[in-house]
Amino acid sequence: MRAPFEIQGQRVAPGARALVDVALPKLNSHTFLSMPVHVVHGKKDGPCLFVSAAIHGDELNGVEVIRRLLEAKALRRLVGTLIAVPVVNVYGLIHQSRYLPDRRDLNRSFPGSAVGSLAARVAHVFMEEIVRRATHGIDLHTGAIHRTNLPQIRANLDDPETDRLARAFGVPVLLNSTLRDGSLREAASTLGIRMLLYEAGEGLRFDELCIRAGLTGVLNVMRELGMLGGQRSHARETAPFVARSSAWVRASESGLLRTLVPLGARVQRGEILGFISDPSTGTQHPVTALARGVVIGRIQIPAVHEGEAVYHIARFRDDHDDVADEVEAFQLDCLDEAAALDPPIV
Ligand SMILES: [Zn+2]
Repeated sequence: MRAPFEIQGQRVAPGARALVDVALPKLNSHTFLSMPVHVVHGKKDGPCLFVSAAIHGDELNGVEVIRRLLEAKALRRLVGTLIAVPVVNVYGLIHQSRYLPDRRDLNRSFPGSAVGSLAARVAHVFMEEIVRRATHGIDLHTGAIHRTNLPQIRANLDDPETDRLARAFGVPVLLNSTLRDGSLREAASTLGIRMLLYEAGEGLRFDELCIRAGLTGVLNVMRELGMLGGQRSHARETAPFVARSSAWVRASESGLLRTLVPLGARVQRGEILGFISDPSTGTQHPVTALARGVVIGRIQIPAVHEGEAVYHIARFRDDHDDVADEVEAFQLDCLDEAAALDPPIV
């Protein structure tokens, strides 16, 4: 018989699930705060996967991905253990903020310390209670506030096992991303834990397509790891495209941006992506693509200042026309999926 899963003095028996409140530093109002941790402990031994969201407190799509994941019937026959943390940065969720009340970015504060800043303490709790118990991890993110991302996986694709999981996730665009100092991914990799980072949608917004693609992706990775039975979702099995590099196009002027290209659009070098007009004089300036590629991120608010990042363009080794076609097919597939149990968020 498999041993129970122990966390915070609670024992979760094989075949059982539990919601555990992991204590966090109190609010200054003396309000007690905790990080909700769902444990689904399968009857059979296998990988231990953590899935986390809202490390940036204003990134909400992942919270809904985890809510739907925990409802999935397939978890009844789970092999291994799933640890799902819908809101890591509880402080940020309350304040609708990416950051912690000490204005630090939690995803630059790993591995943290029990005696460090507030952000370092929260990072430390997450490392000790969650990450150290896991063999694999998926961290769910969105673009920043007023910026949206095409569903994409960022991971260390130079590692063959991580590359395999990134491809299994099933989104059309992968970014081989080097580890950032102080990120959860960096801290997990020093413990030998393979991680994917899923980026999709915009801060402070729900996006049905991004949520569905995220849920399907997590389930696909769990199948790839042997944690769930059945076939990978998405009948259309095509290899994702790996971006060779990516760069932001910045606003050349301040003013109001009229954007002409959606997420997923293929663009040519020198192509006009939008116009920034001076609200006073009406003078307008084109914003042009610096390289040919696909739009994987975009600003959502028209008011921009000179120097602001407005379009994130990825360049691909393969023919970028194919990438854009694949993105379009993927988006149609996601919204069409008959298997979706929940009424769509519109
Ligand atoms: Zn984020």
